[in-house]
Amino acid sequence: MTPIQALQKYFGYSAFRHRQEEIIQHILDKKDVLTLMPTGGGKSLCYQLPAVLLNGLTIVISPLIALMKDQVDALNVNGIPAAFINSSQSTQEQIDISTRLKNNQLKLLYLAPERLFGKESKLMDFLKTLPVALIAIDEAHCISHWGHDFRPEYLMLAGLKTEFPKVPVIALTATADKLTKKDILEKLNLKNPEVFISSFNRENITYRVTPKRNSFNQLLAFLNDRRDESGIIYCLSRKSTESLAADLKEEGFLADAYHAGLPNEVKARTQEAFLRDDVRIIVATIAFGMGINKSNVRYVVHMDLPKNIEGYYQETGRAGRDGLPSDALLLFSPGDAVKLKQFAMVEDNPDQSRIMLKKLDDMVTYCQLHACRRQFLLKYFDEDFPPNCGSCDFCLTEFIRFDATLIAQKALSAVVRLKERFGAAYVVDFLRGSKNQNIREEHKQLKTYGIGADISKPDWQRYLRELTAMGYLQVTDDMYPVLKLTQKSEAVLKGLEKVELVATETVEEQHPATEAL
Ligand code: ADP
Ligand code: ZN
Repeated sequence: MTPIQALQKYFGYSAFRHRQEEIIQHILDKKDVLTLMPTGGGKSLCYQLPAVLLNGLTIVISPLIALMKDQVDALNVNGIPAAFINSSQSTQEQIDISTRLKNNQLKLLYLAPERLFGKESKLMDFLKTLPVALIAIDEAHCISHWGHDFRPEYLMLAGLKTEFPKVPVIALTATADKLTKKDILEKLNLKNPEVFISSFNRENITYRVTPKRNSFNQLLAFLNDRRDESGIIYCLSRKSTESLAADLKEEGFLADAYHAGLPNEVKARTQEAFLRDDVRIIVATIAFGMGINKSNVRYVVHMDLPKNIEGYYQETGRAGRDGLPSDALLLFSPGDAVKLKQFAMVEDNPDQSRIMLKKLDDMVTYCQLHACRRQFLLKYFDEDFPPNCGSCDFCLTEFIRFDATLIAQKALSAVVRLKERFGAAYVVDFLRGSKNQNIREEHKQLKTYGIGADISKPDWQRYLRELTAMGYLQVTDDMYPVLKLTQKSEAVLKGLEKVELVATETVEEQHPATEAL
């Protein structure tokens, strides 16, 4: 059977999506693969389909025991024999599964990593006696400290390549910036891995950020013409999910709260009611959603600031899996950023704190952005996308733009004169000819020093942010991030490319959120 035949026969789909076909072919050729695909992109198929075609067993490592059952049920419905082993099972159930494994009656086996490498686990020895054809590592970013969902037990997976040297490994994730990607490849010891990156663009989602004022009224206004549609509303605290769900019920909405503190039965019931459309709105902490495969979620609202862009993007990505137009709305208050800063400080771990703070900072930059939000988000995941997506609040609003070529040239020349070794704050002070003692004497002698004195500090900060978002500058990932030129800078410096920015007045009306800072 060819991959396309198996796709039609077992999964009922007519064509591959993204780069599924190439990925599958690599696995069938016994090569290691890292797959980066957005949530809802169709990662599971990349190992489930080879599992059907390969002789032997595919082991799937997944961090979320709660989701294994859903996946396994879905496979069995499709006529693919699969099972999971986890602590929720009785001894008898586990014995049954091992019998089926011994008789080669299973195509896929789902496991949490700690099962495999647990101290008293005999499972590894047993699995090594079986014809293992493929190992799939789902949510592979959990292996990285740089990711937003580090799980120490994932580090043990480094041993897989030693235990199963001949078995190809496919690692999959929806969230990987450059550092996480590097980390995954290194820590898993993948052999000459091929990395497949699908576009992270979710074209059917419209992104909006609004200053948070009276959040409940803002939410009601948003929900007004979405009464009968399904949506997820994320809040920072468990308590606020409960009170908001209660308030929404009072307004006649079919809403329920969901957070990690609720009893398992309640969580399962709520989740099922949502899937069946008996509940329309889930008001949740970020505990809700991983692996929830509901296709007709029409909107995702963030009542509070998310901690990082990875999380935000994954959460908003739960909208519109069916490809129909969907909305992501974030209510932004700078006060939230101040609150989250405290959480970001990890005790006794300055490195980790620094990463979390940087990630939070990027999130705030996104909220305060005066440029295409989609372009910014995709750039965050290392993907170039043209500005003016046509479906974010920025691109949908008519702003007054002005020719900012000269401003851009001043900024870029300052970065050049400072030898690309200083951060935004210094560059702004330098441009403004600040008398600040921090400015080095040798820099005060440069001609560029003070060429931007006519522009206020906040405006310069905004311009640098926007020039970065537009790809004319970049910020390094170092301990002290510095501004550097990009490939696009030269054309501007040489006067070959015009740069347009948004006039301040209009923007301040649109985004008064910064006032409260
Ligand atoms: P991810 O794990 O990347 O978030 P899933 O593997 O859960 O995404 O897939 C998301 C949805 O897309 C699922 O409903 C899945 O069945 C569907 N899907 C996957 N591949 C295809 C395809 N080639 N054609 C149509 N639908 C697909
Ligand atoms: Zn846009």
